[in-house]
Amino acid sequence: MKIHEYQAKELFRAAGLAVPSGRVCDTADEARAAYEALGSPVAVVKAQIHAGGRGKGGGVKLVRSADEAHAAAGEILGMMLKTPQTGPEGQLVQKVWIEEGSDIAKEYYVGIVLDREKGLPVVMASSEGGMDIEEVAEKTPELILKAPYVPSEGLAESDARTLAEGIGIPADLVDQAVHFLVGISKVYTQHDCSLAEINPLVTTNDGKVLALDAKINFDPNAMFRHDDLVALRDLAEEDAKEIEASKYDLSYIALDGNIGCMVNGAGLAMATMDVIKLYGGEPANFLDVGGGATTENVTAAFRILLGDENVKGVLINIFGGIMKCDVIANGVIEAVKQIDLDVPLVVRLEGTNVEKGRELLSGSGLPIIPATDLDDAAQKICEAIKA
Ligand code: GDP
Ligand code: MN
Repeated sequence: MKIHEYQAKELFRAAGLAVPSGRVCDTADEARAAYEALGSPVAVVKAQIHAGGRGKGGGVKLVRSADEAHAAAGEILGMMLKTPQTGPEGQLVQKVWIEEGSDIAKEYYVGIVLDREKGLPVVMASSEGGMDIEEVAEKTPELILKAPYVPSEGLAESDARTLAEGIGIPADLVDQAVHFLVGISKVYTQHDCSLAEINPLVTTNDGKVLALDAKINFDPNAMFRHDDLVALRDLAEEDAKEIEASKYDLSYIALDGNIGCMVNGAGLAMATMDVIKLYGGEPANFLDVGGGATTENVTAAFRILLGDENVKGVLINIFGGIMKCDVIANGVIEAVKQIDLDVPLVVRLEGTNVEKGRELLSGSGLPIIPATDLDDAAQKICEAIKA
């Protein structure tokens, strides 16, 4: 689950971490008033979307008067902001954050992710802030310093000091940087984050260390214990099909291809997508209907799949373990009857009661293309959408 920069900054502030003062605005008039209220001669107007790289796309503007703040917000609000992290059509900007400008001495990078090999969160820090960190990782990996930490303890102060000195924070500001690094490591644990990224963390010419950007993602599986964070969700930023899917406990992720996939189990769903690609097809989505899929879930899944106008065919690949294949077959038949299916449908069933399931499908009179195994299914759907 993602949140906006302004929301992440509010969480940072609440944790005692230094961020610039600012206001979130829905209109250009509010931005004018916010500029005046901030009382800072230079301010920054920033598009709030769930994607980074906004600066390069024209979503971050420095302003020096209330009129300029009004004009910049007017330009940014309502624009389809294109960045390397949005789709090619861009993302609609519905809010801007206006904050006091900072007199930047130098930009640094700080990030925290889970290191799956160590089984610990790891703080990454680099002198190469404000840039594309993936590029730094590829070309000059030695410029990214790393320190893992035990979640319940937070980053050790001595490790924070090594990082701060290692990335070249000036000696008189190291204490502030240590405070920030230790603090952010605790925020990461307390809020069940899956990513925290501050790019850039800056030093200023008036001797401060503060976060100019703030990106936080949360582990969706932990959100049941964070009602306050769930309240920060901005549905306008999320894919409508993904929101619909979450109502039915379906794990659905929209992709760019044209073969809709309905699978039970995340591993099988990944394997199915791989085999579709192996035979030259492109999956339109990842969809895990889970282990306890009912007719209602399967019908909802169909509706969501077919609601994607790019879908030219559907592949159902179900392994009946706890669920029996005849139950699944009935669910598929019911769902197809309820929905106007106008694209080819390939079904591969395997597992408990598979013979019964196949009989039900072939006896249903519906135009379902049966497949015997995953290879067969992937080849058939790739062929069928060419026809
Ligand atoms: P992103 O492009 O989506 O990552 O947005 P950022 O918040 O990182 O802003 C992009 C760039 O705008 C930063 O790297 C800074 O160089 C610049 N910027 C942001 N806030 C300020 C500020 O207060 N003063 C100055 N001079 N530049 C800023
Ligand atoms: Mn940034």
